[in-house]
Amino acid sequence: MEVRQVLRALISHPGVSGCEGGVASFIKEEFSRYADEVRVDKLGNVVALRRGEGGGSGPQGGRGGDPSGRRGAGRERAARPRVMLAAHLDQVGLVITAIEEGGFLRCAPVGGVDPRTLPGQEVMVYGRRPLPGVVGSLPPHVQEPRDQEKALPYRELFLDLGQPEEEVRRAVAVGDVALVRRELVELAGEVVAGRAFDDRAGVAVLLLCLEELARLRCEADVYAVATVQEEVGTWGAMTSTYGLVPDVGVAVDATFGDVLGVLEGEAVSLGKGPALGVGPHVHPRLFERLLEVAKQEGIPYQVEPSPTPYGTDAWAIQVAREGVPTCLVSFPVRYMHTSVETLHLDDLRQAGRLLARFVAGLTAEFVEGLRCF
Ligand SMILES: [Zn+2]
Repeated sequence: MEVRQVLRALISHPGVSGCEGGVASFIKEEFSRYADEVRVDKLGNVVALRRGEGGGSGPQGGRGGDPSGRRGAGRERAARPRVMLAAHLDQVGLVITAIEEGGFLRCAPVGGVDPRTLPGQEVMVYGRRPLPGVVGSLPPHVQEPRDQEKALPYRELFLDLGQPEEEVRRAVAVGDVALVRRELVELAGEVVAGRAFDDRAGVAVLLLCLEELARLRCEADVYAVATVQEEVGTWGAMTSTYGLVPDVGVAVDATFGDVLGVLEGEAVSLGKGPALGVGPHVHPRLFERLLEVAKQEGIPYQVEPSPTPYGTDAWAIQVAREGVPTCLVSFPVRYMHTSVETLHLDDLRQAGRLLARFVAGLTAEFVEGLRCF
């Protein structure tokens, strides 16, 4: 699998939180190349199952088990460990809040879009059909001097489709979503820029992991889940973890890449391997195991202190049901939540390799013995 091409395709499909159908169908197809079964659940999460070798799959038993992947809420243990790998498929974007006189559209952010990055951008508005537009604002000549020093609030931004008001009203409704347009930008070598690397690049890592697992012996049943609505509250991870009842959870997400002005220790370097999160929401035995596997396999890695649990699916997985031992594997991305998120493709390749080796080493005995202390 050529990760550059997959990433290019993954970011080309729209998936604003709550409207993820476009990218979800694409990911369903991609997962099905490597998985025994793929389904989309009621919230929109794309769930792929790659069955492990040997043992049974729990109360439903055997390879012909329940394709929903659900097992009873009771505590009968599966003979094969159940591992959930999660990367979110949604992206931050805009929602149309009003259609104004002249056909100008007002908008509000879905998730943490930085409004300073919007003026002058090209957008696509997903109305009855996709409509190209631009983000407009008052030109500097007619702004008050003091306003020029401030970031524009959303009420001073508008989307312009270049169409008469009646046409706009026919094609667009309040509640439709919009995205900044951006194709993958080749910077230099393995460094690329683009939109929604947070967390489509995480989905690419899951695909790399599944591809690698085909070459390994793996006892565990692996559920690769592309989750919805992470950017607005990690809701997809919450519901899919509840349904899957995993023994181990791994969240794969973007973290802050090194940029000018960020202190060492607050960001992770591009091109130096995946970052392994450590902190209260990461199970200490899983963190240790990730370190061991990285060292054994000669995979470069960085350790990232993660003192607060919020901001990724890891937290949602960890606190599902009676608690799920969870760890966090990240890759550095600069300029997060802009349309020029920047990353190093080797970090994704190494994360995929690490994840596959880690998963292949998980045995029923290991997951049974997982205790924090
Ligand atoms: Zn993310």
